[in-house]
Amino acid sequence: MNVLSRSVHDYQFGNKIGEGSYSTVYSAIDIHTNKTFAIKVLSKKHIVKENKIKYVNIEKQTLHRLGQQHPGIVQLYYTFQDESSLFFVLDFAEYGELLSIIRKYGSLSEQVTRFYMCQLIDAVLFIHLKGVIHRDLKPENILVGYDFNLKITDFGAAKLLDIDEEPQSENIDYRGLDELNGPVPSNDSNTANNNNRRGSFVGTAEYVSPELLRDNVCGFEADVWALGCILYQFFNGIPPFKGATEYLTFEKIVHVNYSYRQNYPLPPGAIEIIDKILVDNISKRLTIGQLKEMPWFQGIPWDNKGYIWNRKVP
Ligand code: ATP
Repeated sequence: MNVLSRSVHDYQFGNKIGEGSYSTVYSAIDIHTNKTFAIKVLSKKHIVKENKIKYVNIEKQTLHRLGQQHPGIVQLYYTFQDESSLFFVLDFAEYGELLSIIRKYGSLSEQVTRFYMCQLIDAVLFIHLKGVIHRDLKPENILVGYDFNLKITDFGAAKLLDIDEEPQSENIDYRGLDELNGPVPSNDSNTANNNNRRGSFVGTAEYVSPELLRDNVCGFEADVWALGCILYQFFNGIPPFKGATEYLTFEKIVHVNYSYRQNYPLPPGAIEIIDKILVDNISKRLTIGQLKEMPWFQGIPWDNKGYIWNRKVP
């Protein structure tokens, strides 16, 4: 067995776990190790037709860059392809999306919220230190593993800053599809020095930052903004900015128009954080470093990864 490469024959495919706009995800057992993975199957024809090559490449490049180094990020173990599909072999997150957990419980306790915020902050800081801005953080893109720990996923909207040590990833072979679908769109790399991002909304309406909507600017601060929205949602069950239409949601965001729901009392320390994150001016918004120093996180041993990742979820 060649441990460096895999193909569909190395896996026993199980249930369909979910479906994305251009992918289907299955649980699958590695027949050599008996370990369960999530395999994301992407239809090449669909990717080309829907002009998604760029997003698939970004997702793959980002997962390669982030490597197999952080417990809070869904890891990509193998990629392979056959004539019609691409396959991404990923960590399997048994409990699915964090959104389902929030929906199931309505809102989460202060203890659990603090615990999960610590994990998210630690994972997002790692992502940023690797020169990646996620740009689509939201409870649907945060998965829950067998141990109830969180794992960030879905890097299709990420922005990769140029760094020297870009790991090599093999290219996707789209040959044979050109005749069916016309020319293959360019593999635009979406790096930070690619300036033609005007008008290209990435992210999800409720979690998108005001600077992106207004000025088409999207830096690390945008991920912190999303963390503020998620913290609010942990307590309130719904995100802070939600209008009847996407347009009305955007209106609320650009005017930073949010309020706390009466029936969902928040601890003052969490309100302080939310109010200091949901700030229009990015130079006044909390940075991740400042966030870690907030009184609500007092006593958290941030450097002790075992404390952040190996504790039993409260
Ligand atoms: P879109 O591409 O439209 O944004 P998506 O990102 O949710 O949608 P996928 O990444 O293909 O699309 O995921 C589809 C569904 O499969 C997800 O909603 C999630 O519930 C489930 N899923 C994805 N990855 C995993 C995983 N590693 N472990 C467990 N479930 C997963």
